[in-house]
Amino acid sequence: MFKIAVFPGDGIGPEVVNEGVKLLKALDRELNLGLTFEEALIGGIAVDKYGVPLPKETLDIALSSDAVLLGAVGGPKWDNIEVSKRPEQALLALRKNLGVFANIRPVKSIKSLLSASPIKPEIVDGVDLIILRELTGGIYFGEPKYRDKEKAIDTLVYHRYEIERIADVAFKLSLSRRRKITSVDKANILESSRLWREVINEKAKEYPQVTVEHLYVDNCAMQLIRRPKDFDVVLTENMFGDILSDEAGAILGSLGMLPSASIGEKYALYEPIHGSAPDIAGKGIANPLATILTVALLLRYSLKREDLASTVESAVEEILKEGYHTPDLNIDGELVNTVRMGDLVVERVLKKLEGDKR
Ligand code: NAD
Repeated sequence: MFKIAVFPGDGIGPEVVNEGVKLLKALDRELNLGLTFEEALIGGIAVDKYGVPLPKETLDIALSSDAVLLGAVGGPKWDNIEVSKRPEQALLALRKNLGVFANIRPVKSIKSLLSASPIKPEIVDGVDLIILRELTGGIYFGEPKYRDKEKAIDTLVYHRYEIERIADVAFKLSLSRRRKITSVDKANILESSRLWREVINEKAKEYPQVTVEHLYVDNCAMQLIRRPKDFDVVLTENMFGDILSDEAGAILGSLGMLPSASIGEKYALYEPIHGSAPDIAGKGIANPLATILTVALLLRYSLKREDLASTVESAVEEILKEGYHTPDLNIDGELVNTVRMGDLVVERVLKKLEGDKR
């Protein structure tokens, strides 16, 4: 048995998560993966019903799951409520409670969508990188935090064990890829970065088959735009990763296509990068592919089914190549809605599995 906690959230969250679950259920029917699903409220919808964005029942379901699939939270309705009740607080609390310290954001170019990128197609074509961001340490969580009228303090703390465990994830990831890690820091200025670099270099000795380079974050920000194809696994701390992952995502030019996975020692949380898109919520036109590609990551990292993950990813590529697209993707071909896009992927994945059997 493999239990998936399903948290659709707000706005387009339920619409896109529906398509992800549809795919998982179809795979389960076909291959007897032993999946079970339990759904709960998170975000603004939970505030409306229970007065808190992460109700205890929702957290308990997450803590008894093997993986969480989350849509998105937030929206204008909850923008002006007190900070502790903001839907976004649910995400921070959930990540913290699950101990998911490694945030994996793959950025892979898709030929038929090259025109969506703000960057020249010859630079983007062939990009296949992962931003691996440390998610539970660094300046977002360090103490003390302080603020008065004249002064504000945030504290950037990293412990050796935090760097070691994210480095382990990076090296293991790189073994199944092009065996190159770019570790990003600001070691010319920051003590925490000097510790970071020292630990990465020590860890590198355990993996002689992997090439490690170090880049300062400002240089990395530039190189990601100039030569994104040269990167394989980009390993970095929390705040640098927050910024670089958005930058790397923007290289592709379409928010509706970007998946993410956050992995810890025991739990895993899977969510598309985009938000709840209140401007298009309820219209049935949201692009479900970010969530479907997020399901591919769940298959890859939690169920260890690389074969199924690749099948889903190539089904998505094929469908786009044939021109099927939601309105956010400005390409030639047939315009489809959220549900139809989900159906197309399920049909194509099942067809591919059938072909594999023969
Ligand atoms: P957003 O990602 O929701 O939307 C930005 C733009 O991209 C919008 O025009 C939207 O229509 C479009 N878009 C996003 N996902 C799409 C999809 N799957 N298909 C088609 N178009 C898509 O970001 P925002 O507008 O800044 O934020 C809206 C709300 O979402 C806010 O309340 C914000 O706090 C929240 N948010 C939540 C998360 C999360 O839950 N992880 C992340 C970002 C923002």
